[in-house]
Amino acid sequence: MRTAYKSRAYPTPEQVAVLNRTFGCVRVVWNQTLAWRRQRWHTEQASTSVSQASAFLTGLKRAEGYAWLSEVSSVPLQQVLRTQQRAFANFFALRARYPRYKSRHGRQSAEYTRSGFRYRDGRLRLAKMETPLAFVWSWPGVDPASVDPSTVTVSRDPDGRWYVSLAVEIADPERPPATGAVVGIDLGIKDFAVTSGGLKIANPRALAARERNLARYQRRMARKVKGSNNRVKAKAKVARAHRKVRASRTDFLHRTSAGLVRDHDVIVIEDLAVKNMVRNRSLAKAISDCGWGAFRRMLEYKSARYGRHLVVVDRWFPSSKTCSGCGHLLAELSLSIRTWQCPSCGTRHDRDVNAAKNILAAGRAVTACGGDVRHSGPARVQSPVKQEPQPVKVGIPRL
Ligand SMILES: [Zn+2]
Repeated sequence: MRTAYKSRAYPTPEQVAVLNRTFGCVRVVWNQTLAWRRQRWHTEQASTSVSQASAFLTGLKRAEGYAWLSEVSSVPLQQVLRTQQRAFANFFALRARYPRYKSRHGRQSAEYTRSGFRYRDGRLRLAKMETPLAFVWSWPGVDPASVDPSTVTVSRDPDGRWYVSLAVEIADPERPPATGAVVGIDLGIKDFAVTSGGLKIANPRALAARERNLARYQRRMARKVKGSNNRVKAKAKVARAHRKVRASRTDFLHRTSAGLVRDHDVIVIEDLAVKNMVRNRSLAKAISDCGWGAFRRMLEYKSARYGRHLVVVDRWFPSSKTCSGCGHLLAELSLSIRTWQCPSCGTRHDRDVNAAKNILAAGRAVTACGGDVRHSGPARVQSPVKQEPQPVKVGIPRL
């Protein structure tokens, strides 16, 4: 299996200069190629292959005013074309948004394949650099001299920290024994997630505090005069607060997903089509902050890694409005209603636990049918509930 070791890096001033120049070139190649692709699509409805993009890059390097593209290693420039190709493949498969232009204010990175670096005895030398790049190894259980990276990514966060990530192939981990447990998960806004067993996983408080901090620093920055020194300082504080929010959220998502995968053989989630829901303004902030997309990706790869089964049920399935006891479907259930009583069988429901139970039932129905159980990734299935005569519209769900 593929994994990566990411460490803080401490480049020398000379290395910083080389890397910053490389980042600039990577960004220009990404943006110019993206613009060219868009134009090709608009004018001739033509899609672009890697080799066509590569030919475009060769032309760009020869173009007037772009000679400096040849001053940095060509490896990260070739590599960014492949990354862009993957980004488009993900977009066309509806897994990701349309690739965006890269800004010099965001995170910067450059990826080197084997021809662009040498790694020996735990020392890393990148192309166009005289000296090895210093980094602090953060895995006490792994000897850095023993790893054999296939690609190396150097990055700089907006707050100025440097990182180096070594991608390696390692032996598959041992698969944990079956637990006999299954779970349905409803991703919410009030709580981060609620399980069919009634467990409510709250959004972490530390994260909320860090988010308040971030908002405060952002307000302060907005009051500073553009171009002033104070604004630069305020901006650095915003970047640091951002990193803390990000780290805190990622840590929470990792711990939550790892626990769910460890304790269950089958995990059923709803395909929320986060990108569609984010278009609803009132919910937009809450949803993009929760990190559901990242959470789902973690569940996917961890399930595959540990031999668990992740079932993704159809996204238009009315999990909140259906009684998990008798199947009665409510016509309307506003978001503010947290508990309700089924008019048909009289059961009292917690809104989110009921939804999680329905999600589990939909997943169970699918796995019971057999045939569609795959272990090498999430099953994309239609819930049987959808076949019932009910006013289900194909399209973006109205919330
Ligand atoms: Zn009922």
